[in-house]
Order: sequence, then C-alpha cells, then structure tokens
Amino acid sequence: MSSTTLIRKLESTIENISDFPIPGIEFKDITPIFLDPKLYEEVIADLADFSRGKVDAVCGIESRGYLFGIAVAVALEVPFILIRKKGKLPPPFISEKYDLEYGTAEIEMREGQLKPGQRVLVHDDLLATGGTTEAAAKLVEKQGAKVTQFSFLIALKDLSGEKKLSKFQAEIHKILEY
Ligand code: AMP
Repeated sequence: MSSTTLIRKLESTIENISDFPIPGIEFKDITPIFLDPKLYEEVIADLADFSRGKVDAVCGIESRGYLFGIAVAVALEVPFILIRKKGKLPPPFISEKYDLEYGTAEIEMREGQLKPGQRVLVHDDLLATGGTTEAAAKLVEKQGAKVTQFSFLIALKDLSGEKKLSKFQAEIHKILEY
C-alpha cells in the first residue's frame, strides 16, 4: 500500500483531460510529476519498495513505462529491459501481437537480454484494458523468465485490466486507482 500522503499528492498533481485523444476518454496526464523532483523521488521510492528483493530484472513498456521503470531498476540495482513498439529494435528480437479497440498492435524485446528463470517486474505508467501489459508479460515468459510482479502509477478499474493479468499469478501494485 502506498502512503496516503503520496496518493493525495499524486491525485492533485496528475491532470485529467476530458475527451483526449478521442471523445469519451479521460486522459491522465502524468507530465506535471516531472515538474516536482521531490514528488518524482517519492514515486520511485514507493515503486522500488514494492519490488525490493523480489525481482531480478525490470521490463518497461514504451514509452511512459521508461520514465519510472529505469529509475526503479537503478534503485534496485537490477537490469532494465526496454519493450518497444514494432520496428524500433535491431535484431535479434521477439514479438507479440495484441488486439486494440480497432485493429492490432505489436511490441518487441531484444532476444537474450532477459535470462531464463529470472523473476521479472513488468512496469507501465497506467493500466487500462491490460492488453499492452499482457503482451509484455508474454514476451517475458517466451524468454523463459517469470513475471512475478506488475506495477503501475495508475489503474483504471472499470476496464478490468487486472483480470487479464491474473493468469500470470503475479503481485500487482498500483499507487492510484480511478
Ligand atoms: P492498455 O493496453 O489498454 O492497458 O493501455 C495502456 C497504455 O495506454 C498505457 O501505456 C497508457 O500509457 C496508455 N493509456 C491508456 N488509457 C489511458 C488514459 N486514460 N490516460 C493516459 N494514458 C492511457
């Protein structure tokens, strides 16, 4: 559980933008967090405390999963592996397709950067439908590593993302829930 003080500070810092990028979506803008270095440090400390001693590597999802994921990996002194959108990584890489509301998307990870048997944290800024995070976890498991934790700054509970992740039997941490 994150501290009430941190939850309150984040609630008043994250901006809610209605009807962006399309009508009906309330966009959670996390960029004001970076205007407050102390708050950023507190977020990293919270995320690192959840994972300390429990993971051997952190995988972050492009692109907002890098903003906190790398700092968490450094705090834990474990490797950080980038999960990128299709077409950005040089070979060798592995890919995973997943469904979007309209059409499909694909994410990729360099092959060999995760080691079989490693305990892995998959991190992103926000959990919505869980489609992206589920595909990321499949990439981890294709490498013979085990997803033992997921962490997010924000989870949107109406979209049932957590249900999609339950098959991995991993711990899930979110600082804020809407
Ligand atoms: P999903 O695959 O549906 O769980 O979508 C998660 C990804 O989409 C995350 O990387 C978020 O950065 C982004 N995202 C989805 N919904 C929102 C939202 N309401 N506000 C900000 N980012 C969002």
